[in-house]
Amino acid sequence: MAKQGIRRRGQQQVEDVKGGRRTANLDVLQSLVTEMLLALGEKPGRNGLLKTPERVAKALAFMTQGYHRDIDHLLNGALFPIEYDEMVIVKDIDFFSLCEHHLLPFYGRVHVGYLPNKKVVGLSKIPRIVDTFARRLQVQERLTVQIAETLKSKLNARGVGVVVEARHLCMMMRGVEKQNTIAVSSSMLGAFRSQPQTRLEFLKLIRRGSVGDSD
Ligand SMILES: [Zn+2]
Repeated sequence: MAKQGIRRRGQQQVEDVKGGRRTANLDVLQSLVTEMLLALGEKPGRNGLLKTPERVAKALAFMTQGYHRDIDHLLNGALFPIEYDEMVIVKDIDFFSLCEHHLLPFYGRVHVGYLPNKKVVGLSKIPRIVDTFARRLQVQERLTVQIAETLKSKLNARGVGVVVEARHLCMMMRGVEKQNTIAVSSSMLGAFRSQPQTRLEFLKLIRRGSVGDSD
């Protein structure tokens, strides 16, 4: 019954201006949040919660907008032919994602390196690729592989390395309640996999202090 009630409500789907794709169905999400509040024993009608379903729906839509982003659209016009064939590294890219097992955040940093093969991507696009995959329901391992494989195939790169370091609220707030644990995952493709030297150079460069650090 509840389901039908939800379906009957107006479809408040919003067009994504840039991609021309649909975003999350805010109307359905709002109804579900109201039901969730009831199921938790709350009173959705009380003052503090009146606008909560709307806020949560919007927040969820924002945090999962990666489903509606298109990588080819994102990279359109951002690939440049170049003779440079040394390693390109973009490190300390902040990301926020939601674990698909608990719908709780995990967040941290992504480090990306690749060996160009006659073309490079505009540096600002790499964090956007990270966001595209992070802003979905994820597991850290898949997020890591998706970033690496996308760069490998879209750039036809000779090699790609991706390291993700993350804290998971589902581990910190519940379950094992380990507050200081950082999960590290990596994906090494092409030369980063086959050549230990390349992999080591990448790992060394991402461990070095950031620009402006005193060390
Ligand atoms: Zn989790």
